[in-house]
Parts: sequence; structure tokens; C-alpha cells
Amino acid sequence: MAKLDSKVPKGSIADKWTTYKDKIDLVNPANKRNIDIIVVGTGLAGGSAAATLAELGYNVKAFAYQDSPRRAHSIAAQGGINAAKNYMGDGDSNYRLFYDTVKGGDYRSREANVYRLAEVSGNIIDQCVAQGVPFARDYGGLLDNRSFGGVLVSRTFYAKGQTGQQLLLGAYSAMNRQIARGKIEMFNRHEMLDVVKVDGKARGIIARNLITGEIERHSAHAVVIATGGYGNVYFLSTNAMGSNATAAWKIHKKGAYFANPCYTQIHPTCIPRSGDYQSKLTLMSESLRNDGRIWVPLHIEDAKAIQEGKLKPTQIPEENRDYYLERRYPAFGNLVPRDVASRAAKERCDAGYGVNKTGEAVYLDFAAAFERYGTQQAKIKGIHNPSKEEIIKLGQAIIEEKYGNLFQMYEKIIAENPYETPMMIYPATHYTMGGVWVDYNLMTTVPGLYCIGEANFSDHGANRLGASALMQGLADGYFVLPYTIGDYLSDDIRTGAIPTDTPEFDEVEKTVKERLDFFINNEGTHSVDYFHKKLGKVMWDKVGMARNEKHLKEAIAEIKEIREDFWKNVKVPGSQNEFNQELEKAGRVADFLELGELFAKDALNRNESCGGHFREESVEQDGPQKGEALRDDKNYKYVAAWEYKGEPSDAVLHKEELEFNDIELKTRSYK
Ligand SMILES: Cc1cc2nc3c(=O)[nH]c(=O)nc-3n(C[C@H](O)[C@H](O)[C@H](O)COP(=O)(O)OP(=O)(O)OC[C@H]3O[C@@H](n4cnc5c(N)ncnc54)[C@H](O)[C@@H]3O)c2cc1C
Repeated sequence: MAKLDSKVPKGSIADKWTTYKDKIDLVNPANKRNIDIIVVGTGLAGGSAAATLAELGYNVKAFAYQDSPRRAHSIAAQGGINAAKNYMGDGDSNYRLFYDTVKGGDYRSREANVYRLAEVSGNIIDQCVAQGVPFARDYGGLLDNRSFGGVLVSRTFYAKGQTGQQLLLGAYSAMNRQIARGKIEMFNRHEMLDVVKVDGKARGIIARNLITGEIERHSAHAVVIATGGYGNVYFLSTNAMGSNATAAWKIHKKGAYFANPCYTQIHPTCIPRSGDYQSKLTLMSESLRNDGRIWVPLHIEDAKAIQEGKLKPTQIPEENRDYYLERRYPAFGNLVPRDVASRAAKERCDAGYGVNKTGEAVYLDFAAAFERYGTQQAKIKGIHNPSKEEIIKLGQAIIEEKYGNLFQMYEKIIAENPYETPMMIYPATHYTMGGVWVDYNLMTTVPGLYCIGEANFSDHGANRLGASALMQGLADGYFVLPYTIGDYLSDDIRTGAIPTDTPEFDEVEKTVKERLDFFINNEGTHSVDYFHKKLGKVMWDKVGMARNEKHLKEAIAEIKEIREDFWKNVKVPGSQNEFNQELEKAGRVADFLELGELFAKDALNRNESCGGHFREESVEQDGPQKGEALRDDKNYKYVAAWEYKGEPSDAVLHKEELEFNDIELKTRSYK
């Protein structure tokens, strides 16, 4: 059994990282040339890690299932990236970012890691600017910031609604420099299907060339997993269709503990689902909540009339609208954290006040912002006594400048002009705070096996604040892993190249091939998607935004049944030695079907409400917090790290007790 030791260094929180870096072992430049590192995944976390490790002198082999690192799911990130630069002079600091992140995560993250994240956040912005990332600038040419949910300062750097894409182009250009120098060998269209351990250490992977179907062996002195999150366990999510948990799940089965699988983020501002044949949900960036006001009709008759198409939102007067976030949370209003905003929307919709034909949507309305910005603009432009129409037009131009691409995207999908009619939004699965357990060095419970970015259990506790995932992925890849991995590799300078013609590689390759053979030869009757959709429905209905013991027990049993049915009846067309996306999907869904059960088991174990995990049995009964989530620090102030033992139901729980020395544990209130 692996030992759960977080390896957090001693000392004061502000000095830990600096002192630690001063003391760790280093690998000299000549020796780095003899060390190979595999990086699986080249999104923001893996791309930044691969580029930095190669720049340091290591030989890097990087893998991605897409045809280019530029297509990693990180490209989808819209809103921005946080950093405690205090450019706005509104009182930000490393401590405040640390505090907001721990509080936003509902006191379920490791203090030392979060402080380090805040500490390096400023470096990320400098690094990206140096790479040429075109962050938005204000009139004077300085970098601009906007605010995101759960905080009272503006610390989010952004590039219109395409921040992830621009950051990824930065990391990609840094990678390309190393690809050209031969320090990174890039394996596009390659999928890691398992990890190979030698004498207990991670020493390589088995990958499938997705174009030819060839199974390949790759060795290294250390392996880094940067394969993103597992939100697609819900089938419908805002993640890219290909996002999957296979690498993370495979290493879990080889000894890496999986932490807090039940911590999932349901994002409040997504385009509502439209029917049963949908395969993807679309996010509308949270940045929209800076200017949009969220409401539903105050009267149930109006909500019904809207659902039946007899009334338009613009026909409902101000006094008949319920701006429920502003009403319930006056201090944070529309900028409460995502979990709070999502549950509040569900509460209104469950009570019958939802809009849209399905009753599963609320309005995000920009009318007030048009007027506010328009009035300002009229003054700036010296227009006296402007008409209402003129003001609205001027205001709309400002909103277009800020969020034009998001408005256009909405109109294309919904076929309604959001400048004229309020947008409709509804919560959707978006991000996974749970993931592979790692220590302070970002190493898993398997020596030499690291995990970074969304794939690890990360620094966000039970709920991630907006714009903090990009920050964490780039902190891990540019500024943390490149130091910590050296400490481990300093013992490997005399090891020499790791051979791949060994029994360890033979055995893992055999298992991988047998599984692929099975899929191709199984005479099943149902497509992979058939099972994935069934899993997604159970996850959404019973392990979704609100969870209870009865539903979780049912979910565990139902997922097991779906899994058994899958292995009997799945049909995968085509062959193995060709580009076969159904075959790729089959392997990924097989893993989701195991992960989903562990997810429900973890949710059942955690009989408290915290962050994105809301247990209906654990709700404040009285006082000013009545009806809000009730955390149970006495019994659940720990990271739940699960050890694989065969079936998901056999997984063994290990607890990493969380210590809060620098932040006082409090009830999270946004009122
Ligand atoms: C629509 C949307 C908008 C978002 N907006 C923001 C935002 O504004 N700000 C913010 O902070 N966060 C945002 N997020 C979250 C953020 O984008 C992600 O958490 C982050 O980009 C994940 O980066 P990553 O490098 O960990 O993984 P990814 O970008 O998902 O990259 C995964 C990589 O792993 C590879 N891979 C996966 N499996 C395998 C395998 N088995 N073998 C080989 N390669 C594999 C893929 O090819 C890819 O290269 C958003 C998320 C979504 C869905």
C-alpha cells in the first residue's frame, strides 16, 4: 500500500516554497541531457511543462490525441486567468488570492499548495506577456483586469472571450521552439492506453498511434500525466467531446490514488439543453455575470406563460422580476461563486419559475448594462439629452466590444438576438476538482509518476473559482513541476536509457492489445454512445447538482448494471489498424463506467455539503444561512483518496487530514 504523505515543507506559509526550492536536489545541465521525461497531454498544463522541461535540457516525449497541441481542450477557455498583480489597485495580494481560493473551495484544499499557486500567479502573466499573449489592455496600454465570481477584487487577465486559445498559442510556440531543436519529440494523434512500472517506478507508457492503430512502447525516467478533467462522465458537458479520463484512470489502476472524485463543478451560465439528440453543451463565459443580471419571473403565472410561449421576457415589468441572486446574496449579488449560483438557479427552476419550454433556464439580462454604459458614453461623447434608443445603442456597442464573440455564439445556437431578448442560461457540468491525488511535488502515490493541471485533484478544494484553472495548469507546468521533478530525477543520473524490451513492457502491451481485440470482436448490439448516454443520465439525475443517500445508492447499482451490459453488448465497428474513433470512444467510456461508480461511492461517503458537492441531508436549518449548504468540518475535513482494489466498490479510502493554520475555518457566506 502506498503511503499518503503530502510532503508539505515546514516553515511559515509565505516562505515554504522559496525555502523548499533552495534545499531540493538539482540535476546538472550535462546530466539533464541523459534523462527522458514523458509528458502525456499538451494542453496548457502539459504544453507549458513540456516546453519548460525541454528548455531546462531534459529530453521530452510529448503525447496528444489531437492532431496538434493547439487543439487541446484548453483552447475553449473563454473568460480569463487570475493573478494577484493588484494592477487595479483594489487591494489584491498573494494572501487575498490564497484566501479567496481556499474559501471559494469551501475549505477543502491544501493550504500550502494554494499559497504557492497565488505566489507564482504573477510570474505566469509576465511569462505569457513575454511570449506575446495579447491580453486585453486599457486605454493607457496597461493590462486590463475584470472580476469573476466569489471575489471582491478585479484580478482576471483576459484576451476577449478567447483567453485559453491565446495562452495555448503561447505555450505551443514555446513547445515549437523545442520541437525544432529536437528537445521535444511530439507524438500527435497518439493515445496513452496504460503506464508501465518497473520496480515500482513509472518508467514508460503504452500508446496507440490513432492513425495506423499501431501499439507503441515508450520509456522514460519519469512520466507526467496532464490529460485534463473527467467532466464527460456526465456525457453532456461543456468539455470537448474527446476529453476523457483514460490516462488518469489507468494510472489509478496501477497504484495512483484518486482523490475526491465527487467534486465536480456545475457551471451556472451555459446554454440550456435543447433535446435528446444533443451531444455537447456550450458555455457562456462567467465574465458575462459582470454585466448581466440574472432573474426569473416573480409570479408563477408569468413563468408558465413564458414556458408556453404566450409571453416574452421583455413584456415583464421590472417589479414582476425576481433578481434572486441579488435578493439572496446582497454582498456578492450576481457574482457569487459558481456552485452557489448553479444551485440557486436549480432551486428557482425546481420551484416552477424556470423559463424556456423545458422550464430549465433562467435569464441573463444585459438591459441595465446597456443603459449604464450608454449613459456614460453619451457623456463622454458630449451628446446632450440623448434619446433612450441612442443610449441603448451606445451601451450595446460597449458590450459588443467586451463580449461580442459570446453574443454571436449564443445567437448562432439559439437563433435569438441577445441584444434584444435576454439570454437564457442553465447550469451544466464544466470542471472536475477531483482527480489524481498528488503530494506537494505534484507526484502521485507511484514514484516517478506526476500529475498536473485539471487531471490532478488540484488546488481548488470542493469548488473552483472562475479563471483559476488556467492559472493552476500554467503554475504547475511553468513554475512548479520543473523544480520538483528535478529533486526526484537527481537519483536517476546514472540509470541510463530505460529499455522497452522487458517483461514489464511485454505484459502491459499484451493487456492493452487484448482489450482492443475484445472491442473489435465483440458481437454486440449497441453503440458506445448508447451506454455513455445511459451513464450520463444516471450521473446527472442522481449524482448531479444535489445528491442524497437513496439516489447515490441507486446510482452505484445502476452504473454497475450499465457497465456489465456494456461489456456484453457493446458494438464497435471497423478494425483496429485504422483511424477508428468508435474504438477510441469504447476504451474511454469503459473507463468512465468505472470512474462513475467510484464518483458516486465518494459522494455517498461524504455526508456533508461542501462546494460543488451538495448533500440534501446536510443543509442549514436555521439562522441567516437557512437553506444553504452545511459543511461538516468535524467529520469531513479531509481529502478522500481512493486506492484501487479491483472493482470500484472495493476501493479503499485513505484520508489526508487538512490543516488550516493560516486561514480560519468559517461558514462560507456570500450574503
Ligand atoms: C468551455 C470552457 C471554458 C473555460 N474557461 C475557462 C476560463 O476562462 N478560465 C479558466 O481558468 N478555466 C477555464 N476553463 C477550464 C480550463 O479550460 C481547463 O481546466 C484547462 O484548460 C485544462 O487544461 P489541461 O492542460 O489540464 O487539460 P486539457 O487542455 O484538457 O488538455 C488535455 C491534453 O491531454 C491530451 N490527452 C488526454 N488524454 C490523453 C491520452 N490518453 N493520451 C494522450 N493524450 C491525451 C489531450 O490531447 C490534450 O492535449 C474552461 C473550461 C471549459 C470547458
